[in-house]
Amino acid sequence: MDYFRYKQGQLYAEDIEISSIAEKVGTPFYVYSYATVMRHIHAVKEALSGYPSIFCFALKANSNSAILRILAKEGVGADIVSGGELYRARKAGISGRKIIYAGVGKTDTEIRAAIRAGILMFNVESSDELRTIDRVAGLMNRKAPIALRVNPNIDAGTHPYITTGMKKYKFGMPVEEALEGYRLARRLKNVKIMGVHKHIGSQLTELAPFLESAKKIVAFIDQLKHEGIDIKYLDVGGGLGIRYGEEIPPQPAELLANLISIIRPTGCTLITEPGRSIMGNAGILVTRVLYLKQNELKNFVIVDAGMNDLIRPSLYEAFHKIEPVVKRRRTKISADIVGPICESGDFLAKDRLLTRVKQGELLAVRSAGAYGFTMSSNYNSRPRVAEVLVKGNKFYTIRKRESYADLIRHDSIPAFLKTAGDR
Ligand SMILES: *Cc1c(COP(=O)(O)O)cnc(C)c1O
Repeated sequence: MDYFRYKQGQLYAEDIEISSIAEKVGTPFYVYSYATVMRHIHAVKEALSGYPSIFCFALKANSNSAILRILAKEGVGADIVSGGELYRARKAGISGRKIIYAGVGKTDTEIRAAIRAGILMFNVESSDELRTIDRVAGLMNRKAPIALRVNPNIDAGTHPYITTGMKKYKFGMPVEEALEGYRLARRLKNVKIMGVHKHIGSQLTELAPFLESAKKIVAFIDQLKHEGIDIKYLDVGGGLGIRYGEEIPPQPAELLANLISIIRPTGCTLITEPGRSIMGNAGILVTRVLYLKQNELKNFVIVDAGMNDLIRPSLYEAFHKIEPVVKRRRTKISADIVGPICESGDFLAKDRLLTRVKQGELLAVRSAGAYGFTMSSNYNSRPRVAEVLVKGNKFYTIRKRESYADLIRHDSIPAFLKTAGDR
C-alpha cells in the first residue's frame, strides 16, 4: 500500500494533507513516511529470516539522523562510505559491529576512526588500500577485519553513472587481481580476512545480473577455500531498483530468496546493503509553482525546487513522477518542469505531460526519498530545504530549513579584508 495517496483529490502522506505541511514549513521540502520506511525494513528482514544474515542500510541514500534512528531501533546496521557517515551511524546508535565500510578513497584518519569504532569489516577496493589499512591497524596494535570488493565484470543494465561492477569503472578488483589481493591479505599481519564483497550498481530492475554476479562470487569463494582462505561473510551489496515510472523491479523477497539459494552451499553469512529500495519510495519532494512561461518551442513550469535540491534528473536523466498536490479537472500540457538555478541542466522533468497548473500551486516529486536530500547542495546560495517525517496524523521536522546565516557560517574574512563593521 502506498502511504502517499489521494483522498478527495488531496495528496496525503499517511494521514496528513501535504498542503497543510507546506503551509507550516514552507516549500520546498522533503517528506518521508514512517510507515513506508517500516514496511520496507520489514520486507528485507522477513526475506532474510531463517538464514544467517546482516542487513546494513546504505547511508548515502538518506542519512538524516531521525531516519537512521528508525533503522537503528529496528536493529539494522550501516553500509558507510566515509568518516562522516561513520559519525552519523554511531550517533544514531548503530553498533560498530554492524557497520561495513566501502569506498575507493578511505583516508588514514577515516581508517583509524573505523578501527576504533570496531566495525564489522572494511570492504577494500585496492591492494594499495589493503596495505594502508594494515599499516594503520599495526600502529594501533589492532587487527583490521577486511573483505575485498570483487568486480565481477557484469553489466548491471542501469545508467553508466550508477553501474559499478565493470572493469572500466574505479570500483573493486577484477577476480584475478582479487585472488592476489587475498594472498597478500593473508601475509599481512594486521588484517583479518572476513569476507568477500561485491556491489554491481544501483537501480537494477532485473534479477539476472544479481544472480550471475553472486554465482561468480560463490565460485571465487570456492577457489579461495582451495587456497586455505576461509570466508565467513558474503556481502552481496545493494542496488535493488525501485519503481520510479513503469519499471517493475523484483521484490526484496524474490531477490533475497534467490541469492540465499545460491549462497547457502558456501555456509557464508549473507550481508545485504540496500539503500534506494528502503528510502526511495518512502519520500517525496514538495515544490511550489513560481511561474509559467512559454516560447514557440516549449512550455516551462518554473518551480521553487532546483537541481541543488534534487539532482537526479540533471545528473542521471532520472525520471521522477510529478503530480499535483491537489487534483484538478483541467486539460493537460506538455512542459519542462524547471528550477530557479542558473543552469540549462536545471530541470526536474522534460517534455512532461501534466495537468495544467497555476502560479502558487503545489507539485509532488515522487520517489525522492533516496539520493534526494543527501545529494543536495547550496549551489546558487540556496539554503538546503527542510525534511519532514510523517507518522500517522503527526509530522515532525527532522531537519530544519537552512537560513542565509547558515550559508556563510563557515566563511572567514582575512584580517586585511576586515572593515570597521567586523568584530
Ligand atoms: C551505493 C551503495 C549501496 C546502496 O545502493 P542502492 O542502489 O541504494 O541499494 C550499497 N553498497 C555500496 C558499496 C554502495 O556504494
